[in-house]
Amino acid sequence: MAAEHDLVVRNGEIADGKGGTPFQGDVAIVGGKIAQVGKVTGSGHEEIDARGKLVTPGFVDIHTHYDGQATWDSRLNPSSWHGVTTVVMGNCGVGFAPVHTTDHDRLIELMEGVEDIPGAALHEGLRWNWESFGEYLDAVASVPHDIDIGAQLPHGALRVYVMGERGARLEPANDSDMARMRALSTDAMRAGALGFSTSRTLNHRTVKGDPTPSLKATAAELLAIAQGLSDAGTGVIEMISDFNDPDPATEWAMIRNLVATSRRPLSLSLAQSHGHSPDGWRFLLGLISNAASEGLPIKAQVAPRPIGVLLGLQGTINPFITHAAFMEIREKPLAEKVRIMRDSTFRARILEESEQREKRHPLARGIMAFERMFRLGNPPNYEPAKETSVAAMAERAGRSPADFVYDLLLENEGRAFLFSPFANFAEYNLDHCGEMIGHADCVMGLGDGGAHVGLISDASFVTYLFTHWGRDRAKGRFDMGYLVKRQAADTARAVGLNDRGLLVPGMKGDLNVIDLDRLAVKAPVMAYDLPAGGKRLLQGAHGYEATVVSGEVVYRDGEATRALPGKLVRGAQATPN
Ligand SMILES: [Zn+2]
Repeated sequence: MAAEHDLVVRNGEIADGKGGTPFQGDVAIVGGKIAQVGKVTGSGHEEIDARGKLVTPGFVDIHTHYDGQATWDSRLNPSSWHGVTTVVMGNCGVGFAPVHTTDHDRLIELMEGVEDIPGAALHEGLRWNWESFGEYLDAVASVPHDIDIGAQLPHGALRVYVMGERGARLEPANDSDMARMRALSTDAMRAGALGFSTSRTLNHRTVKGDPTPSLKATAAELLAIAQGLSDAGTGVIEMISDFNDPDPATEWAMIRNLVATSRRPLSLSLAQSHGHSPDGWRFLLGLISNAASEGLPIKAQVAPRPIGVLLGLQGTINPFITHAAFMEIREKPLAEKVRIMRDSTFRARILEESEQREKRHPLARGIMAFERMFRLGNPPNYEPAKETSVAAMAERAGRSPADFVYDLLLENEGRAFLFSPFANFAEYNLDHCGEMIGHADCVMGLGDGGAHVGLISDASFVTYLFTHWGRDRAKGRFDMGYLVKRQAADTARAVGLNDRGLLVPGMKGDLNVIDLDRLAVKAPVMAYDLPAGGKRLLQGAHGYEATVVSGEVVYRDGEATRALPGKLVRGAQATPN
């Protein structure tokens, strides 16, 4: 007898995405959609025994930067190794459309600078067979993918497209510029953009050091674009802001008005600062909550752990990169570097240089401060105790931090990474992340999958949410059912995707079968597989026994199958009835 269902997952512990306690049952998928949840009687063309395993909706990661990768790579790794079945790209105002032929290099420099994606890889990988945002979407859609992908219109590209050099130089947009941006935004939403993104942070610069084009966009310009979304009747806004230009109150009033006038949902990056106001996030979240309680659709986008950089001999930076002795070996292959660094004469040269204060990297008091630098380890530890900092360990050992860190860099044949949190770790713990995860006006994000590939590896936020906050942390843990809701239904709703994130009949047939006992974030590794031999940090996970997209298994125990059912998601999706 022919099977009644395409796929049946049997006897799992189902966390259906609604937030309740997981319950035992089966899930059947037919024609790429959830057909039945509970007791499934008919057989499946394919069946997965999920006894003792957690069955969840596919996860939705709303903050990634696969804008380049998605045009040349069928695999949206590392995100798709973390149970993610839908990624949203085009965040932080950077991306590759719309674009004039003459501006290709400019957008590459912007992406290389803001998101640390190697320019050579982008030059070789991008085919530029598009001009408009709609044509870019067609280019993405023409590549088969492992998981679904949605795109946002990036302000940086839009501004340069409309204003040319004036846009790149941060000049104010005139009335006709704004009218064009509004019309092009409407076009992009109608072509299938999920929203629009913009950056107002000085931390985002092109590789040449110029500020990101959208940095000083006026309220009028942003409002024109938001009204372009309103004209189309769809689209969300993603924004990152420093909140200091011209002053925080003005900035907040502008954002509030943007949402009040356009009625388009907006999410704003939120993290605990390591600067003078570690409680600033609380103030901003309060403002967001007030606005939300008045019916304005604003959410804070948050992370489940410190946002930090990885330092190592293979990465973009390490504590010795400014030293003349290190510069001599900087371009050498890793094995050669390690061999030279084990030489005691070379070591003495480096350590002697590190004694000279002026040789210390300008970041030595920031992201390369020994007081906030930790051995990442394997399994990686993202909430390390203060006493385990490089500075503290060196002091106990009676050695200088530079001397101490020298050996740490050589661990694992030079493949070890040190972790330097630069946000969300002001107080050497993640208590505040727990508050954010549990806050109704926060949504999970900020993982930056596909970006910062020589420096940051945070696409693994998704798995960490479950391992650390659902299972491992000594205090402040959440129910697994709640966390699943946070990373599936809540994230999907935040970008207008109402057809996924829940295991209920009619929803998209995206799910994970997870062995919770084995679920773990792997240590990051450097891979040399970008176009033009570019390197990128990759970080997988243990414990995802199956990841299913539209009813097809795309990963089985971390191994890719040959199925590539992932699709470009064009625009917001209605709740299936
Ligand atoms: Zn980003």
